[in-house]
Amino acid sequence: MAVREILKMGDPRLLRVAEPVREFGTPELEALIADMFDTMHAANGAGLAAPQIGVNLQLVIFGFKSNPRYPDAPQVPETVLLNPVLTPLSDEMEEGFEGCLSVPGLRGSVPRHTRLRYEGVDQYGNAIRREVDGFHARVVQHEVDHLLGILYPMRITDFSRFGFTEVMFPDLDPGADD
Ligand code: ZN
Repeated sequence: MAVREILKMGDPRLLRVAEPVREFGTPELEALIADMFDTMHAANGAGLAAPQIGVNLQLVIFGFKSNPRYPDAPQVPETVLLNPVLTPLSDEMEEGFEGCLSVPGLRGSVPRHTRLRYEGVDQYGNAIRREVDGFHARVVQHEVDHLLGILYPMRITDFSRFGFTEVMFPDLDPGADD
């Protein structure tokens, strides 16, 4: 297990469409997921997608009980999600601030679907199907975007709400800075 280097915006590997995972329960997959959790926890991330460490697979992890980077966010269950498919459950969208470990030091307000269903499998191939809203739905949309080569700044519509974390959120725990 190891903390891997997180690729930063500008790296073309973050712009690829990821390949589906076809083999489940393998030692290689277990090792990759362990590295992803180590990397996410070391950076206080709310989630991490495999392409962020240069692995072009449809694999995301997310979840936390509390997170210093998002002190007001409700708990999200720790989840390993492969080959995900998202289905919005209404036309309703909501704005909320996001950061990204691949875009360090910045935050931006991003419109996301308020409610959605996500489906996929875990690392053993067991089906996952959940209907979620709010911050949980936002985290899933952010992570699944990484599998499509989309970084959150590409989704911003109001650039007056995009800036440096230390300027826009000066009260945030300094250890929480990207
Ligand atoms: Zn991200």
